[in-house]
Amino acid sequence: MQLKSLQLKNFRNYTAESVTFGGGINVLEGENASGKTNMLEAIYLLSLGKSPRTSKDKELIKFDAERAYIRAEVQKKYRSHKVEIVLDKNSKKILIDGIAIKRVSELIGIINVVYFSPDELKFIKSSPAERRQFMDISLSQQSKTYFKSLAKYNKILAQRNTLLKTDNHNPQLKTLLSIWDAQLSEVGANLILARKNYLKKLDSAAAAVHSELSGGLEAVTLSYESSAVGETYEELSADLSKRFAANFDKDAELRFTSEGPHRDDIKIVINGVDARKFASQGQQRSIALSVKIAEISLFKRETGEAPILLLDDVLSELDLSRREKLLKLASDTQTVITCTEFEYKPSNLSKQYKISAGKVTPEKQ
Ligand code: ATP
Ligand code: MG
Repeated sequence: MQLKSLQLKNFRNYTAESVTFGGGINVLEGENASGKTNMLEAIYLLSLGKSPRTSKDKELIKFDAERAYIRAEVQKKYRSHKVEIVLDKNSKKILIDGIAIKRVSELIGIINVVYFSPDELKFIKSSPAERRQFMDISLSQQSKTYFKSLAKYNKILAQRNTLLKTDNHNPQLKTLLSIWDAQLSEVGANLILARKNYLKKLDSAAAAVHSELSGGLEAVTLSYESSAVGETYEELSADLSKRFAANFDKDAELRFTSEGPHRDDIKIVINGVDARKFASQGQQRSIALSVKIAEISLFKRETGEAPILLLDDVLSELDLSRREKLLKLASDTQTVITCTEFEYKPSNLSKQYKISAGKVTPEKQ
């Protein structure tokens, strides 16, 4: 898929800017705090309906403005789409081809992105929550069913946790929770199955990329780490249900749900040791890069179209050979790269812009 254009009005530090993009590498060059990440954030928002940086939408509206508006045009294999988002202080309206949607699930999959920032380069050693988020975002973009299951699971979990928080001395608590638990076990089993399946595919793709990146010196494996035991839907939902019931006293004491797919993780092993604990900084970056490259190839395989690759300031964090590999990979994927100085001459350079204090100008080449 290809992002054709982006329009920003009162979004972050932009007043009114329009940018067009080409099918190859698009570069946004600018000094610190000029607005580079803000522009990638807008593209991410049009893809997933939320920012990668904040859950508070009103932070996205330009200081002193009442309303932000962003719009993108995207060309897919068989048709084009227009996506618009209007942000007011208290509301968010999303339109696809001029029609307001009721649920974010309708937006998912229209514009697919793989976002790569220095933070993501650290995801190997960051928290399980961040590794789960990586998996959830990727899967959600590839499957609407997954996105809906995840939303349902989170909703039931929130209701269960509210009950544990506000009403944990209620003598009826056990009975009340068991109603949520039945649903939670069913949806949770589906999530676990989808994640396991995804990680199996990601594992083989990432292992191949990593072996190439490391010149065959390092072997990486990825697998799903869950407290739930079982291979089939029936086994997993039965096991989850058993665990939710067995944890009743503990959960009532802790006032939250202590076990379930919302606590699972991705296990990453490099040359036989747990990378989450023992990978060096360089190894962490390499693994993260391999995983992201593998993610792109899975996207292509699963959806039939390459996602848009958003590279926020990562080139300077990689050594020369990895940088070249990444740019080479980007050659058949539309890519938007931000950096303070772009000193490469890739053959598929499409557009190059200079950003300065929220103003975008085409770079003289
Ligand atoms: P760096 O190279 O340091 O990563 P950047 O070009 O990516 O810089 P951005 O993160 O895009 O910079 O932010 C640019 C500026 O936008 C910051 O100075 C920030 O204060 C400003 N900014 C953020 N939110 C808003 C907002 N709601 N209204 C106006 N300005 C904002
Ligand atoms: Mg930035």
